[in-house]
Amino acid sequence: MNRGDAWEALRAHDPEIADLILAEERRERDSIRLIPSENYVSYAVLAATGSVLTNKYSEGYAGKRYYEGQQVIDPLETLAIERAKSLFGAEHANVQPYSGSPANLAVYLAFLKPGDTVMGMSLPHGGHLSHGWNVSITGKFFRSVQYAVRADTGRIDYDQVRDIAKRERPKLIWAGGTAVPRIIDFEAFAEVAREVDAIFAADAAHIAGLIAGGVHPSPVPYADVVTTTTHKTLRGPRGAMFVSKEEHASVLDRAVFPGLQGGPHNHTTAAIAVALKEAAQPEFKEYARAVVANAKALADDLVGRDFELVSGGTDNHLLLVDLTNKNVTGKIAAKALDRAGIELNYNTVPFDPRKPFDPSGIRLGTPSVTSRGMGISEMVRIGEWIDQIVTSPNDEELGARIKHEIAELCRAFPAPGISVTD
Ligand SMILES: *Cc1c(COP(=O)(O)O)cnc(C)c1O
Repeated sequence: MNRGDAWEALRAHDPEIADLILAEERRERDSIRLIPSENYVSYAVLAATGSVLTNKYSEGYAGKRYYEGQQVIDPLETLAIERAKSLFGAEHANVQPYSGSPANLAVYLAFLKPGDTVMGMSLPHGGHLSHGWNVSITGKFFRSVQYAVRADTGRIDYDQVRDIAKRERPKLIWAGGTAVPRIIDFEAFAEVAREVDAIFAADAAHIAGLIAGGVHPSPVPYADVVTTTTHKTLRGPRGAMFVSKEEHASVLDRAVFPGLQGGPHNHTTAAIAVALKEAAQPEFKEYARAVVANAKALADDLVGRDFELVSGGTDNHLLLVDLTNKNVTGKIAAKALDRAGIELNYNTVPFDPRKPFDPSGIRLGTPSVTSRGMGISEMVRIGEWIDQIVTSPNDEELGARIKHEIAELCRAFPAPGISVTD
């Protein structure tokens, strides 16, 4: 892929930054990227992101802007909205939130007053900071109650969710998370929300691509609002959006602008539109299916090597592994794996006796490796490498040998959007 004049200009004007970008590109090319919230975007998404749309201010919404010169941006944002509604079968969409956390904050602003009660999944059990965790603004400005997974199953206990909701009467209930390896029963959450007269918000940040691809049930029929990032399994630019029922459209839109944000990032809006078009193609359904098949294959392989998976396995794109029986902490394992060319997260596991900055587990997933076209046999190789490194995290010779083998495997599976050749 020829990078074109824009890239040549960057190289000439700012070689320091150009070299750092190339270094990151090589790193992404030569490593096995298993962070479940990351992916590789297409050249088309990259091109939209790096376009002159970054020059334009567009506070407001199509037809009601506070800046002139919206002849192009209005139809562009409208197209992105129409694609979002069509892909997720929704009545209303907003593509302006800057990222997942601001999208979620807009939901609070739309429906809650400071001090009102919110209920979300506890962070150490797989929830997100923005679902009411104590260090987040959402846990400081609102009264937060949290649900957990069951110790024996590692899964959400819907009876516990109902009990807490009936006792605490939250005004807003969140479903979704960052380390949830199992299908979420959105219908069950909606029923609880209805019983206590709460707004039900589903946060699909991790699984939006799986929902679009038809391999995870959609929350759209059940939730008042569904927020998502656009850069995880959806494979778009860094950004976010939400879809909602029409009855909530204006209160949610006003929460984003003027409630929280100024001008939308139009280059991101364009790239979101491109990603939504890609996600509507038949190939994307294949992709989503392969992400889950690969995750299940990697899970089976690791279980066969005596790894303990939270909930025993996975239904989606991610695995949460408790390393306690391997006598290594999540952090030591993650750092040793990174040195060898395998990138994942150290992560708390439910009921973790260790601290969040040095927890017992690791979190990994298959969206990125699947974007490169890797399949079941590559997952088995990855499982073997993970096992070897976790067993001997300080063996530098082993790490170097595996890094070499990984670079070789990566060469056989070119990644989307990567054009560096040296
Ligand atoms: C990633 C994520 C977010 C936050 O997205 P940012 O773009 O990092 O702010 C919110 N909710 C969930 C469940 C996520 O996984």
